[in-house]
Amino acid sequence: MLMHQSRANREPFDVIDLDPYGSPAPFLDAAVQAVSDGGLLCVTCTDMAVLAGNSPETCYSKYGAVSLKGKFCHEMALRVVLHSLDLRANCHQRRVVPLLAVSADFYVRVFARVLAGQAQAKASASKQALVYHCVGCGSHHLQRLGKATRHGDRCDRVPAGWPFKYGAATGPPVGPTCEFCQQRHQLGGPVWAEPLHDVAFVRRVLAALERSPGRFGTEQRMRGVLSVVTEELSDVPLYYTLDGLSSTLHCNTPSLLQLRSALLHAGYRVSLSHACKNAVKTDAPPAALWDIMRCWAKLHPVKRERLAEGSPAARILAVEPTLQASFALRDDANPSSRKRGLKRFPENPEAFWGPKARAKAGGGISPALQEKRQRLQNKRTERPDDGSSLKNFPCKRFKE
Ligand SMILES: [Zn+2]
Repeated sequence: MLMHQSRANREPFDVIDLDPYGSPAPFLDAAVQAVSDGGLLCVTCTDMAVLAGNSPETCYSKYGAVSLKGKFCHEMALRVVLHSLDLRANCHQRRVVPLLAVSADFYVRVFARVLAGQAQAKASASKQALVYHCVGCGSHHLQRLGKATRHGDRCDRVPAGWPFKYGAATGPPVGPTCEFCQQRHQLGGPVWAEPLHDVAFVRRVLAALERSPGRFGTEQRMRGVLSVVTEELSDVPLYYTLDGLSSTLHCNTPSLLQLRSALLHAGYRVSLSHACKNAVKTDAPPAALWDIMRCWAKLHPVKRERLAEGSPAARILAVEPTLQASFALRDDANPSSRKRGLKRFPENPEAFWGPKARAKAGGGISPALQEKRQRLQNKRTERPDDGSSLKNFPCKRFKE
């Protein structure tokens, strides 16, 4: 209400911080209008179950994008929120420019500037992408919604500030089935496919943090997370995880440094992600990544007879690698934030730490979560062996 009023009175806010209990989705439309041109919008989303793919249909109704339950779900959550912000800003001839987007503990938080300008808002379609995610091996591919091309040599005929021509994108980037494991793809998105952070801004925040030590209680953690953020490959959306790759092939897990070295030896870039401890963010295509994993599986053989026929592992390992991976450790494989021993992925301070259950509508507190967990855990697996849980009435067919 306040936000709508500020817009009606033409008194926009310089900074709006949305941090409601639950989803901020109902407030996003008012917020992108009520913030001034170039103003800052901060949004916290605690509805991670929705954003991380547990209920993609709810995610669509709230954020206008389908979330996926992939290994990359935490980064995808950030991209879904940014997509939603940009989409709503576009309705009012505005657009968002992310400064910093972080996934922490049980929530995501996005800091973005909102800029006015109808011409620039046109570029938004080409900044969003659909995500094809293979259900078998977890390979993912992005499909941009639009295409922005430079006018090139005809630039003199184009009005100033209009250097791009926009059109429909062509695709899809995948066949009917996955080229590696022959399984189907899930379709998610659209999500924001441009950089999540303004690295220059993040460096300034880090510098400000250095200048005033002891100002924040969470200083160590802030320094750790922001350092990883500056190391992230900004032009590579989403990531794979070490355990995800090796569990697909049922092989040993290479160490982070071994896999990173192999990718660097093969001529690709690789980085961590602040959103996941085991993340491997790389510009290597999935084909190269699977070739590296096939080479790893040759060094650490998988028991082929135990792989089910037609399983993703069997199909991927049936192909000979075309790339000869080297797992010799490289110095540059160890990222600087890791070398410096920064506190990047802190452990939870205590057991069952995190958001507690919502207060009941009629007042009062919900029954203790811990008690409920104990009552319900292993509900399906713990069955007495004495047969008391089986039907003990005679079958109709044999009833005399
Ligand atoms: Zn696949």
